[in-house]
Amino acid sequence: MITIQNYINGQFLDSGSKKTLENINPSQGKVFSTIPDSDSTDVEQAIHAANNAFLDWSLLSFEKRFDYLLAIAHMIEARMDNFVQAESMDNGKPTWLAKQADIPRAISNLKFFAAAQMNFPSESHHTPGQGLNYTLRKPLGVVGCISPWNLPLYLFTWKIAPALAAGNTVVAKPSEVTPYTAYLLTKVCAEIGLPAGVLNVVHGLGSTVGASIVASPKVKAIAFTGGTSTGRYINGECAKTFKKVSLELGGKNPNIIFNDCNFDEMLATTIRSSFTNQGQICLCGSRIFVQKGIYEQFKNAFVSKVRELKVGDPRTEVNLGSIVSEVHMEKILNYIDLAKKEGGSILIGGNRLSIEGECKDGFFIQPTVIEGLSHLCQVNQEEIFGPVVTLIPFDTEEDAIEMANSTPYGLACTIWTDTIQRAHRVAEKIDSGIVWVNSWMVRDLRTPFGGMKESGVGREGGFEAMRFFTETKNVFIKY
Ligand code: NAD
Repeated sequence: MITIQNYINGQFLDSGSKKTLENINPSQGKVFSTIPDSDSTDVEQAIHAANNAFLDWSLLSFEKRFDYLLAIAHMIEARMDNFVQAESMDNGKPTWLAKQADIPRAISNLKFFAAAQMNFPSESHHTPGQGLNYTLRKPLGVVGCISPWNLPLYLFTWKIAPALAAGNTVVAKPSEVTPYTAYLLTKVCAEIGLPAGVLNVVHGLGSTVGASIVASPKVKAIAFTGGTSTGRYINGECAKTFKKVSLELGGKNPNIIFNDCNFDEMLATTIRSSFTNQGQICLCGSRIFVQKGIYEQFKNAFVSKVRELKVGDPRTEVNLGSIVSEVHMEKILNYIDLAKKEGGSILIGGNRLSIEGECKDGFFIQPTVIEGLSHLCQVNQEEIFGPVVTLIPFDTEEDAIEMANSTPYGLACTIWTDTIQRAHRVAEKIDSGIVWVNSWMVRDLRTPFGGMKESGVGREGGFEAMRFFTETKNVFIKY
């Protein structure tokens, strides 16, 4: 049994109450570690440590901060296998995916923001005949970073890297469902000698640890990635203490496929955009709108490709591993039931899957394709966040845009067409923070990332993140 501990002021600690929570390997349905069930006292201790560390860290030279972040990145790189196995065991995702995407991207996040802080410009504005304005960008102080379970280390570093790079000290809370790689990262921080209190990680529940970070008047900003209802709560709480807040929330992303697309490329990418990470990526396309001219062709080809997907032990050559938890598996299965009640036909999948051997108690669901639902029904309006997609035929570009924009979400959209004018036209009219044309999940870390409507508030990525984690001060000098 692995014992995960908090990392506060450079020390590894149990929760003050000594209470723990069980952490489950979802592909085997077995407890494999415990984590501290921390409370507000532990959070206070972490905030105190971060406060004490702030002045020195904020005044450190760019080169020194660069060196620290790079040292963390390099040590994760050196321990790639260890991190990959840990991520897969904790989350249920295939090891190849953790190796191809999660851990390399966590390393890139650290490297990218180490370099970004060195290149982050400030502005000056000449006021003719009177003088000169210049803009200072100062770190905020102690900031809170709260992250979800679907891409655990990837999203944890997406928050802490820019926060630290900008000169803030951090109190972070990884998801209690997938705390393991954040714990391994704190081990790395201790080994490379990151100054005590610069990064503090407190494990435990959102309702205790997360809520205490959010409520503290000493925490100057919250960067949160997670569900829309949690984001709504956090936004309300942050208003009470006038914190800056960045929210990256849920999605119900449209994948719009026109008759004139490159069919083979679209098909292969649509399989990925539907089912990568068991459909548990906020950017997965969950509503597939297909123009009527190729609807039947697409449906047949897509279903036969889905039939070939292997689901099973994430340590083996499978396409899909397990769902992250039993609770989440039940939620997805309930949505599949609801789809039937709402008049949908299950074209393939639709059930829990049992796997032989060590994974017999794991939480697996067949990749599922549903058709025959109205775009306005509950299943097509709410986020399922699993290996479930719906197919919806459409006639015209206008119909597709109207249906795509019909949910409260606005995170990402994919458009498949070989007509350049159409690609631009549709991209302009879709209400989402990110649009991919003839591609999916191509991420350049310099680009703004975030959602419209109930998919979020603010943008992260590149200098957007650096701006979020700093406060602007304008100075005017009279001639
Ligand atoms: P969640 O909202 O349940 O939890 C996210 C984090 O918030 C966890 O660390 C949790 O412990 C914490 N938390 C829970 N309640 C809290 C509270 N009251 N106060 C403070 N913190 C609290 O989300 P999840 O189930 O872990 O993740 C899945 C969701 O995340 C999906 O909706 C998905 O779309 C979204 N997501 C969004 C993005 C994005 O970039 N927009 C990326 C990944 C995931």
